[in-house]
Amino acid sequence: MTANDCLARCRETGCTLGALSIRMEQEAGTSLPDILSRLDDMLRVMEAEAENALRAPVYSVSGLTGGDGYLYENYRKEGHSLLGEIPALATAYALSASETNAAMGRIVACPTAGSCGIVPACVLSVSRARKIDREKVLEALACAGLLGMLIDEHASLAGAQGGCQAECGSASAMAAAAIVEMMGGTPEQAFHAGAIAIKNMLGLVCDPVAGLVEIPCIKRNVGGVSVALSAADMALAGVTSRIPFDDAVDAMNRVGKALPSALRETALGGLATTESGKEMRKKVFG
Ligand code: SF4
Repeated sequence: MTANDCLARCRETGCTLGALSIRMEQEAGTSLPDILSRLDDMLRVMEAEAENALRAPVYSVSGLTGGDGYLYENYRKEGHSLLGEIPALATAYALSASETNAAMGRIVACPTAGSCGIVPACVLSVSRARKIDREKVLEALACAGLLGMLIDEHASLAGAQGGCQAECGSASAMAAAAIVEMMGGTPEQAFHAGAIAIKNMLGLVCDPVAGLVEIPCIKRNVGGVSVALSAADMALAGVTSRIPFDDAVDAMNRVGKALPSALRETALGGLATTESGKEMRKKVFG
């Protein structure tokens, strides 16, 4: 299935991408109450992970990271942030979810654990600031899932295969489309947002320090949030991606295959092999 196929189905039935995604799950044999209850469960976990590291500092098991969500939240609440209400809230949520993951807490992998902060941060910050109904938020999550499924089918969602563009890049595209969906944009606009996000994350390498999903992953989630918010905002304003979603995913696939293995989660390149990166590895593993 491609984005074009999805758009054709949406045009035929007048439904949104989220509604199409739910319908496809029903066609695969899951009942509507089951689908909605699973989405609601996921949203509850997302709500908890997005706030978990804001109330008190949360540290990773390795001791390499932690406390940044708490630090940023205090700065934000004191009114110092240079960002607007939604981006600042989304930054706090992304840090919290990613730090919760690094501390082995409960998260929703969307699409992966390393990129788990982007979709919840975007969906929760926008839905809370704009008072979006819970039902609509669940539909937006289903929309995000549909884009993830398309990327998985035509490229990859794994850093080990496609670099960080496959994880944070995919999450950013999923989040951008979900925002458009929540704000009442069209399916076409949702795919434009997804395509713009992918284009802006294309080529991003996977280079985790000490092989742990912490540095640069936690702050890279915040980068993915910024890309998603701006991509969605542009799409809602009517800005289109000259490269359609299906082509952007195809490019992501080819770029991922062209990346050397040192930049695909092996921790043998990029930030992982800087002097500071190697020092941190020694500190954790001796
Ligand atoms: S750098 Fe690698 S491990 Fe970290 S989030 Fe990106 S893809 Fe995942």
